Amino acid sequence: MPTIVENVKAVQASLKEKLAQIGREADEVLVVAVTKTHPVEMIESALRAGIKHFGENKVQEARRKLPFISEPYEGFHYIGRLQTNKINALLELEPVLIHSIDSMDLAWNLNKRCEARGRVQDILVQVNTTDEQSKSGCEPEETIELVQQISILPNLRVKGLMTIGLMSDTTEGMRPSFRLLKELFDELKAREDAGYEMRWLSMGMSGDYLTAIEEGANIVRLGSVLFGERDYGGMK
Ligand SMILES: *Cc1c(COP(=O)(O)O)cnc(C)c1O
Repeated sequence: MPTIVENVKAVQASLKEKLAQIGREADEVLVVAVTKTHPVEMIESALRAGIKHFGENKVQEARRKLPFISEPYEGFHYIGRLQTNKINALLELEPVLIHSIDSMDLAWNLNKRCEARGRVQDILVQVNTTDEQSKSGCEPEETIELVQQISILPNLRVKGLMTIGLMSDTTEGMRPSFRLLKELFDELKAREDAGYEMRWLSMGMSGDYLTAIEEGANIVRLGSVLFGERDYGGMK
């Protein structure tokens, strides 16, 4: 079985090759290693292999693991659904970026708690780029207005957009999702004002990150391609 170090090297090489092929800069893309379900030792291995950012999708799990990570890192990302009653616990972990803000209600609650802590929090707005009702994310048609509304909140800074996209068997199946998110990103960028900045386009996971790169992603969130399959211990 390949080691985490080998996986990190392989991902870096494939990103470099893809970026060169499409004429983008090699250092444009941030890899967020998705460490959910994996123990602290594996996070530390990835950090030693050159990963600088990692992400978790459950507040409780992040709280259990983060205090024990002994390797330095640049950023902890929160990429999962956020419940209002977990916001304070999350803020204690000082996430560099929260990828998953998808309603004004959630933004308002987060802003209030950031204000109480004197913290200004960078966030992404998560968009549901598929027709699946079960998916998190705001509707594409609501995105521009939601970004503009959130940008009025003094303790949040909108830094871009995120999507999970359509779970597809083929990487080509994901392309319409990615293209839609990029269109929204560009439209927002064209209207960019002091209130928000379209800096990050977070899309692409293990199965489709090279497609996402072709469509303009500059954050890819990678789990299994770095760490192998996840073991949920029978409870998904
Ligand atoms: C689990 C997860 C990922 C990583 O998934 P892989 O397919 O293992 O790369 C990326 N983004 C989010 C939001 C996730 O929950």
